[in-house]
Amino acid sequence: MFSKKLSNRCGTVRFRLTFMYLFLAVSLSTVAFAMFYISLGRTLAGSIDQFLAIEMEEMVTFYHRSTLEELAPWVVEEAKGEGVNRVFLQVLTTTGDVVCMSPSWSESSIDELARIPPELSIGEPIFRTITIPGRTSDIRTLYRQVSDQHVLQFCISMHETGALKKRIREHFGILLLIFTVGGGSAAWFVVNKAMSGVDRVTHTAVKIHKGDLSHRVPVGDEGQEIQQLANAFNGMLERVQSLVAELRDVTNNIAHDLRTPITRIRGIAETTLTGATTVNDYKRMAGSVIEDCDWLDGLINTMLDIAELESGSPSRTDEQVDLNTIVRNACDLFEPLAEDKDISMPVVESANAAIVNMSRQRLERVVANLLDNALKYTLEGGRVEVTVATTTSQVVMTIRDNGIGIARHELRHIARKFYRVDKSRSTRGHGLGLSLVRSIVLAHGGEISVESELGKGATFTVTLPLVHRGQTA
Ligand code: ADP
Repeated sequence: MFSKKLSNRCGTVRFRLTFMYLFLAVSLSTVAFAMFYISLGRTLAGSIDQFLAIEMEEMVTFYHRSTLEELAPWVVEEAKGEGVNRVFLQVLTTTGDVVCMSPSWSESSIDELARIPPELSIGEPIFRTITIPGRTSDIRTLYRQVSDQHVLQFCISMHETGALKKRIREHFGILLLIFTVGGGSAAWFVVNKAMSGVDRVTHTAVKIHKGDLSHRVPVGDEGQEIQQLANAFNGMLERVQSLVAELRDVTNNIAHDLRTPITRIRGIAETTLTGATTVNDYKRMAGSVIEDCDWLDGLINTMLDIAELESGSPSRTDEQVDLNTIVRNACDLFEPLAEDKDISMPVVESANAAIVNMSRQRLERVVANLLDNALKYTLEGGRVEVTVATTTSQVVMTIRDNGIGIARHELRHIARKFYRVDKSRSTRGHGLGLSLVRSIVLAHGGEISVESELGKGATFTVTLPLVHRGQTA
């Protein structure tokens, strides 16, 4: 139980980050200390060797100026001057016998120190560090052969430097301990504070998982990244919430739009069983059923088309189509409807070919849906103008009517699936026409915009990339 808790804790980002910071900090300070310690050791060793060389020079000068009898007291005096526990001087024969020496350190030291290095030659000084068993500190010594008979030796105890280095090591150990505890706590505090923002995101996600999409992550002051995370998460929630609402609307609308024709078809079927008498009645009812089925078929196909376009799967049926031709054909098709409502429908084609890369059928649907709407929402005696123009890189189609128009606050909703300004749904239509047009245009790298004022008509502008003849998309 406890080990599971511990391993859970070790797996947290908090623990890992704190451990990493601490590990890095301790490693770096240890490396820095090691470098300082090595360089300090070298400096101390250098200054000891320099001291030995200076003292040896003095001893050599005295040796050459005086007799052996005079040298013996000088050696003692010299050692007393520097401290008998600190330095030791002696004159040896080349075979290692002691001629004279300063006050002795210990028997074992003397034997060890009197061992002359075999490679020693006249005038060539030799430095040695000697470890004597039983002694707490090493001895640094300098041998110098001054004649065929004699070797001078000057030794210094490394007790002081050893003690200094030991003190430095101890201080560093204590500092490292304080640093580890203090630094670890500070790192834990900082990481904890930063991670509290992530915790808030997690808590909000858990609440949302339980079904309430209205929760938002409170934005704290842990730093820019955490604030950005909270804002991005809240933005995503906003989007998800609106998508869920849209999905609910779409589902409600589908249910509503399906129920009406299905109820009608069922009613007709009941009548054929119970009330229909003549063949003409049967024919009329069959006609109504076909009409409703076509309507349902249209609805389902449009939904499938929108889904395919929104999924981003590339169209395999794109071809180079002239928008002028499509507009001309569509206007011919809608002419009778316009005449019925006494609506004038002037068309201005572009001077140059307005070639776009799109499936002919889809382009026809774009034009037909916009024209159908323009005629549907324009009152008798009104006017619908269709213009096609080209720029160097674009084809621009404008369909302007002077019909009922759209209120400003409705404008941004009209391209939503199943959205209809007329909530009573008294005019025919699925509420999917503009949604399909928008999906087709966007999927082909174009744009669609609308300008309108209630009671003054609407202007829809579609812009698509212009393709030059023979150019591949
Ligand atoms: P519908 O099948 O209802 O026409 P659309 O997606 O084509 O669906 O249009 C959505 C809504 O936009 C319509 O219900 C209508 O209220 C409004 N609308 C579209 N075109 C026009 C227009 N030319 N004039 C006024 N309102 C329009």
